[in-house]
Order: sequence, then C-alpha cells, then structure tokens
Amino acid sequence: MRIGLGFDVHRLGEGDGVILGGVRITFHKKLVGHSDADALCHAIIDALLGAAALGDIGQHFPDTDPKYKGASSIELLKQVAGEVRAAGYKICNIDSVVAAEAPRLTPHRQTIQNTLAAAIGIEPSSISVKGKTAEGLGPVGTGDAICAQAIALIEEIV
Ligand code: MG
Repeated sequence: MRIGLGFDVHRLGEGDGVILGGVRITFHKKLVGHSDADALCHAIIDALLGAAALGDIGQHFPDTDPKYKGASSIELLKQVAGEVRAAGYKICNIDSVVAAEAPRLTPHRQTIQNTLAAAIGIEPSSISVKGKTAEGLGPVGTGDAICAQAIALIEEIV
C-alpha cells in the first residue's frame, strides 16, 4: 500500500460558476487559473501522483504550456489515473476536503463523487468529498479563495 497527499488553492474572481470535481456549480464567482481551476481535481491529481511518486501536477501539466489553457481538469485527472495504473498500481480509495465559504457543496456532493469516480475508474463508494467552511477566517473565509485537500491510497499490483 502507498499513500499520497494533495493540496490546491485557487482564487475566486467575478464569474458565473465554479467547477469542482468536474461538476459546474452556478455561482456569482468563478475560480481563476490557467486551466478550469478545479481545485478539487488538482488536489486529487497531486495525491495520486504523490502516492505513485510520479512527480506533481506542475510537471505533468505546466501552466506555462498554452495546451493547458482552459483545460478540463477532470480530463487531466482521467489521464493521471491511467498513468498510475500503467505504473503498476490499483487505485484503492480517495478522501478529500473542500474548504469554501460558498457555494454550498452538499447538494452537489453525490454528483461530484460520481463524476470523480467515473474519471478515476473506481466505484463511487471509494471516493469521499467533504465540504467545510473556514468560519470567516482568511481568504477562504472571506470568499476570495477555495482550497482542497485530498489523500489517495494505491496498491502495487504484483
Ligand atoms: Mg490548481
């Protein structure tokens, strides 16, 4: 068994929706970044890459590469899950936390878990997404940013 940890944060700017875990949530702001700025997908990508010691998201998808401008992070996640499998691992489960003052994640949680599971190629029961607020503290608390943490367990296939 091997374990990996991932973290990501993106700034919120003026917009009409955020993409988290590959799911678009209508909101009066958007996440700002080179790709679609899906902080949850980015944290999970780094957790998976970390578990397999395959580097990090910046090495795989550099934000200086115009190819990844506006990229769909759920597609990048699908690609990374494939790379982890190709390196000889089974993806066991993923747990994650999204910290956001708004929008509320709860109504979208099952859709996000199903979308992530399909991209990674695991059962929805093997992925957990939890929503938190920051109690009004820091950039997350003031609604200026959303951050995500993820942990992934993989198993070497012998
Ligand atoms: Mg990111």
